[in-house]
Amino acid sequence: MGYETRKVLRDLPSMEKILGDPRLQDFEKILDRERLKIICRQMLDCWRAKILEQEISRYDEGQFFAEIGSALQSRLSPSLRRVINCTGVVVHTNLGRSSLAEEALRAVQECSRGYSTLEYNLERGSRGQRNTHIEWLLCQITGAEAALVVNNNASAVLLCLAALAAGREAVVSRGELVEIGGSFRIPDIMKFAGAELIEVGCTNRTHLRDYAEAITDQTAMLLKVHPSNFRITGFHCQVPREDLVELAHSRGLLLMEDLGSGSLVDCQQLGLQGEASVMDCLAAGVDVVTFSGDKLLGGPQIGGIVGSRAIVDKLRRYPLLRALRCDKMTLAAMEATLRLYLKGQWKQIPTLARICLSGQELHDRAKALQDRIDSDLSRFGLITGLVPVEDAVGGGAYPEEPLMGWAVSIRLADGSLSAGALQERLRKTRIPVIAGAQDNALLIHLRTLDYNETDELMASLLEALEAH
Ligand SMILES: *Cc1c(COP(=O)(O)O)cnc(C)c1O
Repeated sequence: MGYETRKVLRDLPSMEKILGDPRLQDFEKILDRERLKIICRQMLDCWRAKILEQEISRYDEGQFFAEIGSALQSRLSPSLRRVINCTGVVVHTNLGRSSLAEEALRAVQECSRGYSTLEYNLERGSRGQRNTHIEWLLCQITGAEAALVVNNNASAVLLCLAALAAGREAVVSRGELVEIGGSFRIPDIMKFAGAELIEVGCTNRTHLRDYAEAITDQTAMLLKVHPSNFRITGFHCQVPREDLVELAHSRGLLLMEDLGSGSLVDCQQLGLQGEASVMDCLAAGVDVVTFSGDKLLGGPQIGGIVGSRAIVDKLRRYPLLRALRCDKMTLAAMEATLRLYLKGQWKQIPTLARICLSGQELHDRAKALQDRIDSDLSRFGLITGLVPVEDAVGGGAYPEEPLMGWAVSIRLADGSLSAGALQERLRKTRIPVIAGAQDNALLIHLRTLDYNETDELMASLLEALEAH
């Protein structure tokens, strides 16, 4: 270690000096001394390391205390924060998938601020079941005989496989053995559930006879899995659901389907085509269907299971269910969301409303936003434009069916800030904005931007440009 380095290290303040500094006084009122010490120690260690690496060549007291201040401030502020989604991806898994409908939010507040009938039957004045709040609704909407909800769709699949196929075999097409969202893999879930995976067919083609030939006296079910974002194009085929139903039932087996992004409205009503709804699966005769609550359904994170009374009863008695049950906030949000479907008011569900936005509506909104940016932020020398864009449903649904939308493009006339730099600045504003970029221009997609978020978006844009 050189003389200079040693000198800079010696300049670093002692813990005592740091804790006594008036700049930390405000924090001392909120955090106890030991906790404060831990964070200051980390900052000291961090500076020491940087000095040794010669990334820092002198001790700057102002900078040091500013860094401690912002480290403390960030520990005291929420980490899970709201953001403004300007990506045009409606069911954006990293941004929390579906936003809840107003009714669902009200129900969450109402049922969580105080006590609730979560497991209480008012009629009898005794213990009730948490599942009753949503079962009738799910059955009414989907036409199922019985229904159950668990923590998410991954747990729905796990529960079904464990309760219905443990110690036996489940037959799946190789074309459907895909990884979803970086961690959900049917072979792994199958292993946890204690069921044996029997793979049939090839990645691109699986025929009915492949399933038929794989059936033994150990087979419990045929399993169909939605391939999510994965698409095979060209020469390929999978067996139609109806044929699988017929084969399964003729051999005394169950057909289970993991639908993933289960829709509770016909896709044509959303202006989309090509994917089966939960109702379609049941009508085709599938014995048990699983789906997510926070994808196309537009509700909270939940795993829905619908099917025959006998199957659902079996699941309900299975001990694993206790480990997968939903919280009251989730159930309240789910019940309120389902009731919107029951009343035919599903357009009040943000996810569905966003999918249904027309090109004309989005164009009008984009134009209004562009005008506002041009007039309010003119001093920054921006070049704005209206750009037709391909938005996406997201959540693994309709990967090949883009939603035609509009975005406002923004770039600096003098080229002093790249689109990437502007994206980064927008991520660090008081209300972070996640936006797209194309041809070195920032893209604000209108589909996922709520009308009442416009003021906040403008404030964040201003903050990002001023920081420049
Ligand atoms: C999204 C998805 C899952 C996982 O659902 P979660 O609700 O995220 O647990 C499972 N299977 C398919 C086909 C999916 O699309």
